[in-house]
Amino acid sequence: MIASPRVIIVDRPDAAIVPIGTPTHSQEEFPMPDTIFHKIMRREIPADIVFEDDHVIAFRDIAPQAPVHVLFVPKRDFATLNDVPASEPEIIGRLAVAAAAWAKAQGFDEDGYRVVMNCNGDGGQTVFQIHLHLLAGAPLGRFGTTA
Ligand code: 5GP
Repeated sequence: MIASPRVIIVDRPDAAIVPIGTPTHSQEEFPMPDTIFHKIMRREIPADIVFEDDHVIAFRDIAPQAPVHVLFVPKRDFATLNDVPASEPEIIGRLAVAAAAWAKAQGFDEDGYRVVMNCNGDGGQTVFQIHLHLLAGAPLGRFGTTA
């Protein structure tokens, strides 16, 4: 008999959850993390911002890997996908929904696109504030090759 796989859902109430740029919290209470994306969110360095709402900011990647390459970043602080609590799936859902809405608004939703989240070293993550890559504008090759 094949044992059914066990599914373990791990909630992480201790995960770092720090609102970005929320004026109700002082620096002393919640010191702001300092990735390049936080600097962009705080408008300390320039970026080509294409979308923003209360939860998500999106800007063009500085080193695009496709004709369209936009990063969707939550306004909540999680270093990696591993750190998002199971109790808050909307953190990720909002990124995907914002990316799809932007694709539709730009008119390439029917042609198609790819969304990717890299996690930690093997995933190729280089900026440790979670983000969703949106790649589009041309037929994309297969993904998942090793370095
Ligand atoms: P990761 O490798 O962590 O999945 O993706 C990080 C992305 O951030 C990379 O595609 C990289 O090109 C992009 N990036 C790094 N620094 C900057 C920056 O200063 N501005 C912008 N717009 N993108 C950046």
